[in-house]
Amino acid sequence: MTTRSFNDYELSEDITRALTTLGYTQPTDVQHKVIPIALQGRDLTVKSRTGSGKTAAFGIPICELVEWEENRPQALILTPTRELADQVKQDMTNIGRFKRIKAVALYGKQPFAKQKLELHQKCHVVVGTPGRVLDHIQKGTLDVERLRYLVIDEADEMLRMGFIEQVGAIIDELPRDRMTMLFSATLPKDVEQLCHQYLRKPIDIEIATPEAAKVQIEHSLITVLDSEKWPLLQNVLVMENPDNCIIFCRTQENVDKLYSLLDQLDFPCDKIHGGMVQDDRFLVMNAFKRGEFRFLVATDVAARGIDVEDITHVINYDLPMEKESYVHRIGRTGRAGKTGKAITFVTPHEDKFLADIEGYLGFEIPRQEAPDSEEVAAKQAAFDQKMQATPVIKRDRSDQLNKGIMKLYFNGGKKKKIRAVDFVGTLAKIEGVSSEDIGIITIQDNVSYVDILNGKGPLVLKVMKNTTIKGKLLKVHEANK
Ligand code: AMP
Repeated sequence: MTTRSFNDYELSEDITRALTTLGYTQPTDVQHKVIPIALQGRDLTVKSRTGSGKTAAFGIPICELVEWEENRPQALILTPTRELADQVKQDMTNIGRFKRIKAVALYGKQPFAKQKLELHQKCHVVVGTPGRVLDHIQKGTLDVERLRYLVIDEADEMLRMGFIEQVGAIIDELPRDRMTMLFSATLPKDVEQLCHQYLRKPIDIEIATPEAAKVQIEHSLITVLDSEKWPLLQNVLVMENPDNCIIFCRTQENVDKLYSLLDQLDFPCDKIHGGMVQDDRFLVMNAFKRGEFRFLVATDVAARGIDVEDITHVINYDLPMEKESYVHRIGRTGRAGKTGKAITFVTPHEDKFLADIEGYLGFEIPRQEAPDSEEVAAKQAAFDQKMQATPVIKRDRSDQLNKGIMKLYFNGGKKKKIRAVDFVGTLAKIEGVSSEDIGIITIQDNVSYVDILNGKGPLVLKVMKNTTIKGKLLKVHEANK
């Protein structure tokens, strides 16, 4: 068997260089199937789970196909959650780094005006949740006239969350002459209906889950009174001594309460729920991904679409009310061939919900006794030892890519009639700098930002302190992150 390679697809050098820097040496199964067809501009439906590399499967062809010169958005990616929208935007920016692809994320609970401003500038790719995207289209702040690529990501989840009408309303506004790709972990009837309605002779791709990637999750269930949940959790955590763990609660209040209890006992922990401001949610999620703390207390917000490697345990402190939530929650563990444990607490009044979940799963979750005090005592020392250990911080894939990048701030923009070409023209003339070293350029009314790549930032900064752009000497310094 020949080895697969990204060189098989005739991608441009800008894209392959980004993939190499990201450490993507070989296409995954879904990428291998999707990329060649997407590059031909065919519509696609793809049944594939999260964690299979599906974002890059659509991200690579889109970054390859968009025309850099066009200022108006060419690709729209719809996602069910804000976290996923932000992650996809990051992935698109990373893949398109050397082609200078500009991606913008649009979602609720963030100032509309700020997004409007971003959309007003050059932007190739828009990623967003349906509500806010539709809002921008209807208010005329998202121009879709040049849109040629549409991705509906996690379509099943999108429909489950009740976004069907908004998705339909968005599609009705888009040019007909476009390519549409739909990604979904499952293909229930309503998703098939959506494909039938909006895709043109799509090619159906199904990625069988390879043996090695099959989720291996050990489920267990402990019956407990509400008042006994907290002591039980402490015992379970000592017994399991997880490397890292998500503890799911039903409500934001429960998350807040449980988080305080853990925090008071100095557990390395944090929390995430929909009542927190978006920036805080991102900070927490990223810190958890890097392994800065071990215990994340969360509502279902964190349960879907988020790619965190190596979660060993999921604990359902509160039983989910919806059967699908159980599957999404436990899907956070046991990824990519690793085994994971899902431990669920159930109170005596929750039989009906439990029956629903078990019916949906197709098996009975094995019952387990609460650990007794002797068992817990025997494990206490090992638990205490791990609590004292310094966390090992995981490297982010994009670290390497971002390493040589410096963002420069210039105190001049549109009002001084400065355009991106002026920057490229001036900076590429600096000795030792070429247009390949210039990344994304953002020009606002009074200021501009230019990413300088390949470690050339300090050189450009030094030279530009005394060099004019379009006859004007601008103030320049490294931009705040
Ligand atoms: P996704 O299914 O898009 O959530 O991707 C899952 C993870 O796989 C992400 O962390 C990606 O950065 C990573 N990934 C995607 N494509 C590749 C590849 N070809 N080689 C290695 N890692 C990849």
